[in-house]
Amino acid sequence: MATIPRLVLASNNEGKLREFRRLLSPLGIEVVAQAALGVPEAGEPHVTFVENALAKARHASAVTGLPALADDSGICVAALGGAPGVQTARYAGEPRSDARNNAKLVAALAGVADRRAHYACMLVLVRGPADPEPIIAEGRWHGVVIDEPRGGGGFGYDPYFLVPSEARTAAEIELERKNELSHRGQAMRELIRRLRVDEVSNASV
Ligand code: IMP
Repeated sequence: MATIPRLVLASNNEGKLREFRRLLSPLGIEVVAQAALGVPEAGEPHVTFVENALAKARHASAVTGLPALADDSGICVAALGGAPGVQTARYAGEPRSDARNNAKLVAALAGVADRRAHYACMLVLVRGPADPEPIIAEGRWHGVVIDEPRGGGGFGYDPYFLVPSEARTAAEIELERKNELSHRGQAMRELIRRLRVDEVSNASV
């Protein structure tokens, strides 16, 4: 029995909704999109992923009175001091464009030898808007940024994100394998583990 029977997902992304439903339904948790409950999208005003995810989750929970789950993710490049970071989706400004974002990233690294980067994903689950102990799950996926795109899969920065252990870019890696390795896959598995621990500890008091 899940201690959280129903939660609101603080995102309007259909892909994320499907993915979270698939993961959480075996735990008996129903996932409802925030748009279906009339929750307006919250901003991402903070400089850390975890603060943005927490703000989005708290907002959705405050509006609906339900437990809420939010995520925030992006790419951090070592030689750029962690940029684009929370600006990842709009690195090259609005309207958002993967092509312009990637062009800006490659230009920023012109002549730079240190190509290390990682994707980061933070998931935050609050049981209510004043939850003093949110569940925070994180994942990181390390790689290097290359100058020429490779592969047709994935999205965002994937064609430029080479994973040395696979000798392929994220856009060349099959989705199933990407889920095993990726920042988001890692964070999701960590979230599930934390929810299961939570259930067991609640059941034993
Ligand atoms: P958000 O988590 O929806 O805010 O997405 C942040 C941005 O990070 C996306 O728009 C992508 O540009 C980038 N991003 C996050 N995860 C990935 C990934 O797995 N591959 C490529 N880009 C990603």
